[in-house]
Amino acid sequence: MRNKQMIIAIIVIVLVCATVTAVVTILYNKPAAAPPDVALEGPDIREPAVTEEPEVPKEQIFVDGVICPLGGEMIERSDLYPRPVAVMLDNHPAARPQAGLEQAEVVYEILAEGNITRYMALFTHGTDQPVGPVRSARSYYIDKSMEYNAIYLHAGGSPQAWDDIERLKIPSFNAMHLGKPLYWREKHRKEPHNVYTALDRIQASAEAKGFNKTEGVKVHSFNLQDELIEGKETERVLIAYPQKYRVSYEYSGEEGVYLRYVLDKPHVDENNAGYQVRAKNIIIQRAVHKVVDSEGRREVHLVGSGNGFYITNGRYTPVTWEKADRRSPTYFYFEDGEEVILNPGKTWIQVVPTGSEVTFE
Ligand SMILES: [Zn+2]
Repeated sequence: MRNKQMIIAIIVIVLVCATVTAVVTILYNKPAAAPPDVALEGPDIREPAVTEEPEVPKEQIFVDGVICPLGGEMIERSDLYPRPVAVMLDNHPAARPQAGLEQAEVVYEILAEGNITRYMALFTHGTDQPVGPVRSARSYYIDKSMEYNAIYLHAGGSPQAWDDIERLKIPSFNAMHLGKPLYWREKHRKEPHNVYTALDRIQASAEAKGFNKTEGVKVHSFNLQDELIEGKETERVLIAYPQKYRVSYEYSGEEGVYLRYVLDKPHVDENNAGYQVRAKNIIIQRAVHKVVDSEGRREVHLVGSGNGFYITNGRYTPVTWEKADRRSPTYFYFEDGEEVILNPGKTWIQVVPTGSEVTFE
C-alpha cells in the first residue's frame, strides 16, 4: 500500500515537473515579437521613413508612429506625405511676413539675382496651412529639391531653371500655368508678391498627378534625443546677407532653440502672428557664387564640396560638406570626419558665398 502511494506520488511529481518544463519551454521559446519601429535603438536611424507594417500583434502597438524624415520627431504614420514638397518663397520686403515657414521643417535661404534672397521650404506633413508668397525657380534650388525627390512648387523661373525642370523631369507645379484651386492671389498683397498655395491643396494636386506614387529620399539623420555638440558657445549668430536681408539668430536656452530675426526684428509667420520662427539646427553652407547674366542672376555651386558651420543647442562648430551630383544628398561632416547627425527639430540651411561674413557672439 505504502509502495503504491509512493509510486503515485512520484508519478504526480514527474507530471508536475514535465508540465512546468513544458510551460517554461513554451514561454521562453515563444518567438520574440519584433519591436515596433517606434522603439528605435542605436544612433543610426537612417531607415527609409515609410516602411512596411511591423509584424507585431495589434495590442502591442500604442502609436503607429514613424520618425519624421525632415524633423526627426515622432509623428503618426498616416500624417506623413509619401514624398516631401518644396515651395519657393518670396523674401522681398513686400512679401514679409511669409506664411508657412513656422510649419516648414527644413528651409534653405540662398541669394537670387542682385541683392535679394529667396527661401525654399520643405514640408512632409501638415494639413491645410497656407504657404506663400510663392516665387520663381532657380536651378540651384532645384539641386536641393532633387536631393529629397521632392515635388517642386514655384511661380515661373529663370531660363536655366525651366530647362532643368523639363530635361530632368522635375515633378513640379508652376503657379504661372496653374490657378485655383492649387494657387490663388491674396488681395492683401501686391503682385507679384501675392501668390499663395496650401498644404492640403498641394497633396490633392500631387495625388491627382500621380506624383505621390514615388517616395521621398532620406537626406538627414537625426539623434533620438537632443544632444550637445563639441564646439564653442554662441548666443547670437549674424549672417551678412545684403542690407535688406540681414539675418540673425538668438539662442533661447529655455527652449533650446534659436529664435530668428530679419533686420533685427523677430521673424514672424503670417499664419500665426506672434509666433517667432525658430531653428533647432542651423547649418551655414559656404558655396561659390557667380553672377552669370545682365539681370544679375547667379550660379551657386552646390555640387562638390565646401565648408561651413553647424549650430545647435547654444554651440557652433566648423563643418565640411559634400554633394556628389545634382540628385545626391548633401552630407555634412564634423572636423574629425564624423557625419553631422541633426537634433530633432526645425533646420535652417543658410547658403552664403565663400568668404562672406558670419559672426558668432
Ligand atoms: Zn516633422
